[in-house]
Amino acid sequence: MPITGDRKIVEELIFEQSVSGRAGIPLPSSDVPRTEPETSIPSALRRRAPADWPEVSEPQVIRHYTRLSQLNYCIDTHFYPLGSCTMKHNPKVNDRMAMLPDFSALHPLRPHELSQGVLEILYEVERWLRELCGMDAFTLQPSAGAQGELTGILVARAYHESRGEKRTKVLIPDSAHGTNPASAATAGLEAVTVRSRPDGQVDLDDLRAKLGSDTALFMMTIPGTLGVFEPQVREIVDLVHRAGALMYMDGANLNALIGLLRPGDLGVDVLHVNVHKTFSTPHGGGGPGAGPVGVKKALEPFLPVPRVVKEGHVYRRNLDYPSSIGKVHGFQGNVGILIRTYCYMRLQGAEGFREMSENAILAANYLRAKLAPLFPKMPKGPFMHEVVVSGEGAFANGVRTLDAAKRLLDYGFYAPTVYFPSIVHEAMMIEPTENESRETLDDFAAAMAAIVEESLTTPEKVKTAPHTTPVRRLDEVKAAREPILRYRRD
Ligand SMILES: *Cc1c(COP(=O)(O)O)cnc(C)c1O
Repeated sequence: MPITGDRKIVEELIFEQSVSGRAGIPLPSSDVPRTEPETSIPSALRRRAPADWPEVSEPQVIRHYTRLSQLNYCIDTHFYPLGSCTMKHNPKVNDRMAMLPDFSALHPLRPHELSQGVLEILYEVERWLRELCGMDAFTLQPSAGAQGELTGILVARAYHESRGEKRTKVLIPDSAHGTNPASAATAGLEAVTVRSRPDGQVDLDDLRAKLGSDTALFMMTIPGTLGVFEPQVREIVDLVHRAGALMYMDGANLNALIGLLRPGDLGVDVLHVNVHKTFSTPHGGGGPGAGPVGVKKALEPFLPVPRVVKEGHVYRRNLDYPSSIGKVHGFQGNVGILIRTYCYMRLQGAEGFREMSENAILAANYLRAKLAPLFPKMPKGPFMHEVVVSGEGAFANGVRTLDAAKRLLDYGFYAPTVYFPSIVHEAMMIEPTENESRETLDDFAAAMAAIVEESLTTPEKVKTAPHTTPVRRLDEVKAAREPILRYRRD
């Protein structure tokens, strides 16, 4: 490790730390004669020399990986206000439960007589989701929100087709998450944009003009992408139903609704829920998640198979749904995530969920009140789970939202979501969740105030941030287009 006097971690690659002949464990030399192993690998593809593994001691390995794990911001070390992503506390007990060998070593092909426990958990997660969301049936198979959207749209498409209707268009507000139009296109339908008004609400005139006998679905995010509840939602549902279309709700972020409102009662026909956001399972970096899809009775026959059913006291997998769209995932989905979901549901209980939602709303509006004097261009609240502010009119001297987000890292906060939703210029989307203390929210607001002040007094310092992280500003385009995934010794 290079010596520096400022305790900043400068971590070399493990290959760079290698010293020829060094080993973690001294093994005695082998007394078994060396023979060529029998292998079907063609000789041209076989190694000619031993692999160039790093040669390091055991403490070096431990320190290297421990230090690497400390270079990152994570929910266990920092406030992580990533809007739209609900990075909340994940009780460690959920992980412990999912790691019990009876779950983690369970083979998905084990017969149902020997898998009653896990089938019961899946059945119960579905029952809880039905009850909390006011829907008639759920599939737990999709492994992410985006895959839930695709599943929901395919189910809706199959429903319309079964009625002999040709409906090819999915109407989506321009404030939507990018996965919405992508899922519509992947399902073979056409995404049509519906305008939002400047306050983030759906432009009803534009919706009326675009609804027609070819509309399959209207896809709406609730609470809306600005973190605001759409007050026209009943009217929207009526318009959609009168056109013979189905109402799809993007329920990725239910943190502010669960226990307070059931989407099914609003008239929603299909929705997906990101359990890895609302129901507290770790996520990020493309890791495993689950995006269960809930539907009303008329759409149930089209859900993916197999489904877990209960007959008397016995749980089993049922494949007998002739109108099903088929499988969207191997076996029952990401069961490890769903076990965490189950634990979280049992920990919270119905009362706990209501409190969770109320506290998430309180935290978001507390931050809104603290930030309002700094950010003149703030969408009108009250907010639900998150606050959206605009850097415009707040930061001076050409400091942009991106600069402020980078500077927040120096203050010890993970950066919020930036430049989304695209209907707000220089957007910064902040989601505190229900788990943060008032002191943390105060510290975050103070850091934002300090950065606004710095944009007036020392703008260069903000524009060149971060200054304290192991790597500075990355060329994100180059990192995505020309990733270096392999170490090469020069
Ligand atoms: C996160 C999110 C999605 C996509 O969920 P993934 O699990 O990342 O695929 C869709 N819509 C909204 C509103 C989201 O916040």
